[in-house]
Amino acid sequence: MSDKQYAVIGLGRFGLSVCKELQSSGAQVLAIDIDEARVKEVAPFVSQAIVANCTNEETVKELKLDDYDMVMVSIGADVNSSILTTLVVKESGVKSVWVKANDKFHGKILSKIGADRVIMPERDMGIRIARKMLDKRVLEFIDLGSDLAMTEIVIGHKLLGKRLCDLNLCKERDVQVLGFKRGPNLANAPSLDISLETGDVIIIAGPKTLLAHKLKNLS
Ligand code: ATP
Repeated sequence: MSDKQYAVIGLGRFGLSVCKELQSSGAQVLAIDIDEARVKEVAPFVSQAIVANCTNEETVKELKLDDYDMVMVSIGADVNSSILTTLVVKESGVKSVWVKANDKFHGKILSKIGADRVIMPERDMGIRIARKMLDKRVLEFIDLGSDLAMTEIVIGHKLLGKRLCDLNLCKERDVQVLGFKRGPNLANAPSLDISLETGDVIIIAGPKTLLAHKLKNLS
């Protein structure tokens, strides 16, 4: 549960889904869009929903967005509005502004004008799905930046009965076993002597190339 306050500007599919998830997790959400129909659509799911053009400095000042813990700018199709809104929101004194970008260059501009975090949902989701397609044992793959990643691997019948230490996951200093899941139980410091069962899940993190190499060796 969260008692924090968030504002989401731009209520396309991405913005809408961010709003719903934040609110259902207990946060206070202010949803904003220039389009009244989109505001009406999200209104039942959030604390407050208003129509506003966030490229306008005066409007953004009146919204007092600097009182919010975090602001998400999720305007994709109109790149000019995305950039201008980010600039205006950042200049209004909001400490943490996360922004959705369409591509690398859009993202680069957003970083230069002060976005605290740039999100590229299509790129990130594409990478995660491709990793799962390449190896069905990979349940999840999350890019951590700086060439690091975190992945969840499900244990198949080939590794049944082996111990966690037999997988040699910790031999490389850079690869870390973050957790081990069996059914509903999660251990964040699993014993390396644990005997593996089909369906167990291991959560590991490290450099991407090293993780790929480890996965290959687990076949
Ligand atoms: P997706 O639907 O996948 O999230 P997208 O970000 O391209 O993609 P759009 O449909 O373009 O989604 O949604 C962006 C939203 O941002 C639209 O609802 C649009 O009305 C809104 N918007 C655009 N400019 C402004 C602005 N200046 N101030 C507030 N909202 C804006």
